[in-house]
Amino acid sequence: MNIDLSGRTAVITGGGHGLGQEMSRAFAALGATVWTCDLDQKELDETRDLCGDRCEVRVVDVRERGDVSAFVAEASKESGRIDVLVNNAGGVAGQTGKPLEEITEEEWRVIFDVNLNGAFYFSQAAIPGMKGSGWGRIINISSGAGLRVSLTGIQAYASAKAGLIGFTRQLASELGPWGITVNCVAPGFIRCNPMTERQWQSYGTEGQEKLVASIATRRLGRPEDIAHAVLFFASDFASWITGQTLAVDGGR
Ligand code: NAD
Repeated sequence: MNIDLSGRTAVITGGGHGLGQEMSRAFAALGATVWTCDLDQKELDETRDLCGDRCEVRVVDVRERGDVSAFVAEASKESGRIDVLVNNAGGVAGQTGKPLEEITEEEWRVIFDVNLNGAFYFSQAAIPGMKGSGWGRIINISSGAGLRVSLTGIQAYASAKAGLIGFTRQLASELGPWGITVNCVAPGFIRCNPMTERQWQSYGTEGQEKLVASIATRRLGRPEDIAHAVLFFASDFASWITGQTLAVDGGR
């Protein structure tokens, strides 16, 4: 199976590092024109260097609806549409787990804003162009925390990621008649940023061994494991698959 994304325009949110950076690199390597956004220009520049000349980067906060619309409009300018949207930006916003009665409203909201509301804004902006062309792919990045419980114990994160799974299912049903598929990838634990690195170190040797032993394939995931699943959903090979959530976690 050779995936060819030549002529496709892909918007990938949160491409400054981690999984989004690897997805951006992988999409560009298979011929797509990649537009990615994040909060830090320096990190975005690094992504652009990795992707070569088929990549545009912009500082956009996915929580800002107006900026999201403007970014999608700019990415759509050349062809009148974007073909693939990957709602990847997310995470725990620097938080650590604590009892629910200690969570402030702001802490709860910020996690929903980044992980769920951003996907709503981006999807809303991208859909008209996809409907016009009769082809589109939306891929949401949830988490094992949305399927089971969060390893970090962050309630809002587990809830927002579970929300993305519901959003995926509902949107798939709505958009199928226009040739648009909507799927979701739920990654397992991957060491690819300071937060996950801190989490990994906090387990100690024994905890780390226990985590790896709980994975069927007995290894941690790598960013490319997630990118490969996303590429498949973005490709023509996945045209009769929609509304699905694929756990990419080495098996539990
Ligand atoms: P990461 O922190 O390395 O990357 C997320 C990116 O999103 C960062 O570059 C960050 O700056 C960006 N971002 C955060 N808030 C933003 C905002 N408001 N506007 C624009 N960009 C913003 O994290 P990652 O591990 O690469 O995670 C990518 C996605 O995968 C996230 O949605 C995360 O929840 C999910 N995920 C990761 C893991 C893991 O173990 N790494 C596991 C399950 C799910």
